[in-house]
Amino acid sequence: MTRSSRIPGFYKLSLEERRTKLAEDLGIELATLVAPTLDEETANHMVENVVGVYGLPLGIALNFQVNGTDYLVPMCVEEPSVIAAASNAAKMIREGGGFQAEADDPIMISQVQLDAVHDTLAATQAIDAHAAEIIRMADAAYPSLVARGGGCRGIEVRTLRRSTKNEPGMLAVHLYVDVRDAMGANLVNTIAEAVAPRLGELADADVGLRILSNLADRRCVRVTCRVPAKCLATDGHSGDEVRDGIVAASRFAELDPYRAATHNKGIMNGVDAVVIATGNDWRGVEAGAHAYAADKGENGGYGPLATWRVADDGSGDLVGRIELPMAVGTVGGTLRVHPGARLALKILGVERASELGIIMACAGMASNMAALRALASEGIQKGHMSLHARSLALHVGATGELVDRVAEEMSRLGDVRAEVAQQILERLRGANGRGHKHSVGGAS
Ligand code: NAD
Repeated sequence: MTRSSRIPGFYKLSLEERRTKLAEDLGIELATLVAPTLDEETANHMVENVVGVYGLPLGIALNFQVNGTDYLVPMCVEEPSVIAAASNAAKMIREGGGFQAEADDPIMISQVQLDAVHDTLAATQAIDAHAAEIIRMADAAYPSLVARGGGCRGIEVRTLRRSTKNEPGMLAVHLYVDVRDAMGANLVNTIAEAVAPRLGELADADVGLRILSNLADRRCVRVTCRVPAKCLATDGHSGDEVRDGIVAASRFAELDPYRAATHNKGIMNGVDAVVIATGNDWRGVEAGAHAYAADKGENGGYGPLATWRVADDGSGDLVGRIELPMAVGTVGGTLRVHPGARLALKILGVERASELGIIMACAGMASNMAALRALASEGIQKGHMSLHARSLALHVGATGELVDRVAEEMSRLGDVRAEVAQQILERLRGANGRGHKHSVGGAS
């Protein structure tokens, strides 16, 4: 069914109403949406020494349109404002025609370390001469992958340390494997182990590690977007001012790794939330993203994954671009075991891993734009603080409507601290000094 990601007023609905609306829009059973948590029995089989199940909020980011298709984007995250900010930015990007995105083929890199190589040149030549044989061996190690249209696409020998008369060298052999819709770590590890003995023989070397590289730079996603400047306006700041502020913030990140780290953290707010919601390996995605960013700075060092400019067509639009590796799957690993992950994939309506990676990058781009827009106008604290105020209200024990009342009062006072929340809560409860006591961060 064609789904729309525009659901005006979704945030104003109760949790129950949101579920009902989502079930109706997606044409799925309400019950499927009610209990997407992992049961203890399944958890006990997933990892070791299990003593319980840990929960995270699951929310839906709205307004996403990617290559002309609408997506409701499930996000799992503990940090307030991430989902609202991504939805808000996606709405502005939608005004400019939505996200335009493409993904590389799902090529993962399998590494075989060859150590104690006495003649690195001869070893490289021997492996190159037998490349076709190695590729055949790799494919034979995973026939079901080949049957699905995947398999080994190539081989490359990298010299990490050249051999000399006095010292043996080290090689890393890369197998480039199309893993189709899997994240692919286990797949390529199996392949590395299958071909490693023959590689060791050809190179007359000791076989070392046989494992994937998380720098999945052959499996990148690229997204561009454009936002009419007028959509960026905030209270007190014109759209042109905010756009120029976003571009200046991008330049800051391009020139300074200290800023780039925070810029990229904001991107990963969006990326990771979708990675976690869909049961994917967020450590792998994080490792890949930061390794990829390691030479993206203008001065050659760590730099931003997303950059922002004024369009050069005279429109005055803001244009953004993001590129990062996206090693994620829609099959394999534990993601089909986790009911929350299955639900998230159903909400998204994606089958292909490349499509999923694209949506994650779009969520990252939207998160980045939202953060830069706030920073370039009123500053991040205003928006953050009102959400932080709600967290503090909950933390000191407010429930029901008291959560909003305590948060609003702190925002009005411009003083968002746990002890203030506590005082307001006690006052509102009419039990000053006698109410529920809670000590936070040294305040009691
Ligand atoms: P996997 O081992 O489950 O392999 C994928 C399975 O899905 C294969 O059996 C394959 O035949 C099957 N499959 C069904 N339909 C498919 C399709 N359309 N395309 C591709 N395969 C299809 O999982 P994986 O993706 O190889 O490995 C992912 C897991 O490995 C994750 O749990 C990850 O955390 C873990 N891991 C990660 C690292 C790392 O990142 N460094 C290292 C080791 C393990």
